[in-house]
Formats: sequence, structure tokens, C-alpha cells
Amino acid sequence: MTNHHTFQTRLLHNDHKFDRETGAVSVPIQQASTFHQADFDNPGIYDYSRSGNPTREALEDTIANLEGGTRGYAFASGMAAISTSFMLLSKGDHVVISEDVYGGTFRMIHDVLGRFGIEHTFVNMTDLHEVATAIQPNTKVLYIETPSNPLLNITDIQAVSKLAKANNCLTFVDNTFMTPALQQPLELGADLVLHSATKFIAGHSDVVAGLAATNHPEIEEQLGFLQNSFGSILGAHDCWLVLRGLKTLDCRLKQSSESAETIATYLAGHPLVEEVYYPGFNSHPGSSTHAYQSSGAGAVLSFRLKDEAAVRSFSQHIELPVFAVSLGAVESILSYPAKMSHAAMPEHERLKRGITGGLLRLSVGLENPDDLIRDFENGLEYVGAQQKVSKAQ
Ligand SMILES: *Cc1c(COP(=O)(O)O)cnc(C)c1O
Repeated sequence: MTNHHTFQTRLLHNDHKFDRETGAVSVPIQQASTFHQADFDNPGIYDYSRSGNPTREALEDTIANLEGGTRGYAFASGMAAISTSFMLLSKGDHVVISEDVYGGTFRMIHDVLGRFGIEHTFVNMTDLHEVATAIQPNTKVLYIETPSNPLLNITDIQAVSKLAKANNCLTFVDNTFMTPALQQPLELGADLVLHSATKFIAGHSDVVAGLAATNHPEIEEQLGFLQNSFGSILGAHDCWLVLRGLKTLDCRLKQSSESAETIATYLAGHPLVEEVYYPGFNSHPGSSTHAYQSSGAGAVLSFRLKDEAAVRSFSQHIELPVFAVSLGAVESILSYPAKMSHAAMPEHERLKRGITGGLLRLSVGLENPDDLIRDFENGLEYVGAQQKVSKAQ
């Protein structure tokens, strides 16, 4: 139903806009682990909440609809969604995966799946020739994250999906940074979309959640089976929080993306900043691919200070962004990838990927961008003044 409306409207007007039984204009939280069966020969739709829960189903329907998929799944975290999806693989299978993938995904692939006989090759996913060369007869999945974390590298989803299909592989896309508001990988040929809903989708730094959506008939069935078998489902309360966050996704992301562009431009012009990574800049090597496959540059940017040692005093002298792991919230979040999101990655792997000590990642929230810029200006002025003092000494 209502698929003809635009995305912005479908966030509010979908099959779950009101409860059919009571008319309540909010999805009811079904806080039940089990469901009474009227007759053991004819079980009801729900029997046990790991296998199915009406609140979770509302969220799963909604994400499927928003991603243009046929089925959605809600998991206890983004990592639960990602890890459960990797269980579609079997011993002896091989995965080709972005080398600058999320730190937790790196850990799962590198430290866990190997023990189960699942092989992997990390590649620069922006280089199609390198991707093609890495595909082996036992390759089953090409795994993309675009824009990537934290350097915002852009992978051509359509080109990689084509390459996957030609080699009988599936394409998985971690769509956390864009959300379906800005990028819909299934339409570009991907088979499975994954999310840390903890970030922009829920959007308020108050819930950890994961989502998946697919339009592939085999994945549809198998992932449902794996979700129930592995059991890392999202609880009813948290499903409700994610559903509530989703309603404002479009306007949050619009506002935050607009501010991110303003801030990225400001930082790029600052003499103490060496480099700004932001896919909205024409100078970004992936900007045209990104513009083709997405409808916005998003609200995350990274920047590198010229003086690595200044990162500490800079982050201590800004007031507004919370200094924390995570992103995609109403409040701006500044993080230090080398010690936070990518701490799970060995140092040599980190440096190889450009995640150096001078790099900071900013997820822009809903503050007035002028206030954020003033705050950054103060932080950078402090750093500049300190440098003058140390030079004078
Ligand atoms: C945070 C994040 C994850 C992991 O999600 P959790 O909800 O923290 O388990 C995966 N991918 C990306 C891109 C992320 O930012």
C-alpha cells in the first residue's frame, strides 16, 4: 500500500500509520514473549516473540518498504544484523570486502569467520579492477560500505552489483551512513542492505539496533530462518523507538546534511586543517559516483589536522559536539577513529587505510551550524595559539 507516495511521506503514511484494532496513531508495543494458541492444530500468526512479534514486524515491514525490498528484519544491533547475514555463508566460501569497512565488521570477518572456514579478501572497493581480480571460484559475497567509515570513500554500487551477478555472487551493502532517505542499494542491484539503526535511522542516541532488507527470494527465506535460529532479535520497546525515530528521518537528515556542507566548507578553508573528507565536494574522487547513486552527501565528514598532536587539545576545547563513539544523532558527535571506531583494527592496518592520529570524524546534528562553526573556531584558535607558544619556546 501507499508505495506511490514519496519517501518523505511514506515515513509517516504506511501500513502502520495507525493500529487496526484500536485506531491508535502509534504502533502498539507488544511486550509479550509468547502468544496464546486457541487451537494446537491451527496455530495463530504469532507463537513466540523470537520467531515473530507484532511490534518488530511493523518495523521490519517499514524498513522493507523504505528500502524498496520485499522483506525486512530487525536485529539487536547493527553487528547482529551483519553477523547473522554472514551466516548465509558456509565453510569454504569466500567474501570480497571493502578494506575500510566498519571496525566491528572487520573484526567479525578477520577474527571470527575464519575460525568457521569462511575466507575473505580485503580490497579497495573503489577500484573495480582490484575487485574483479579478487573474485575466486568460491566467492559468494561482495561486501560494500559506501560512503566508507571514516574516510568517506565511494564505491559504485551498481558496478559492483553487476560484477557480483556476473560471478554468481551476492552483493551486501552497509547503508548506515546514507539510510534509504539518501541511497537505496536494492534499486542499484544489491541483494541485501544492512544498517546500524543505532545511527541516523533511530537518530537520538538512545537505542542500539540493526536492520536488514532484501528483495532476493532466497535471502528472504534464509535470513528469516537465521534470525530465528541465531536469535539476536530486537526487543519490542527498541523496535518502537526505531519506528519513532524513522518518522523524522528525512527532515533530520536534510537539516544535518545542509549543516555538514557548511561546516565542511569552513574546515576546508582553515589553515590548521590539512584535509577534509566529504563526498559533497567536487574535489572528492568519488563525488560523481556518489551524486549518481545517492541524493545527498550526508551528515558525516572527517578532517585531518596538520598537527597530529593538536587533536587532543582541539577535542578538549570544543564545547558542543559530544566526544563519543557513534554517529547519526540529533546532537553532533565528534570521534577519534584511531582510538574509537577503529580501535579493533591493528595499527598497521589502520595506517594503511589513512586512519592516522590526526584524523577526526564529525557527525553533524541539528544544532545551528553557526554555533558549531563558532565552537570549532574557538577550538582551532586555541590550537593555533598553543603552537605559537611552543614555537617561541
Ligand atoms: C555503528 C556501525 C555498525 C555497527 O552497528 P551497531 O549498531 O553498533 O552494532 C556497522 N556499520 C556501520 C557503518 C556503523 O557505523
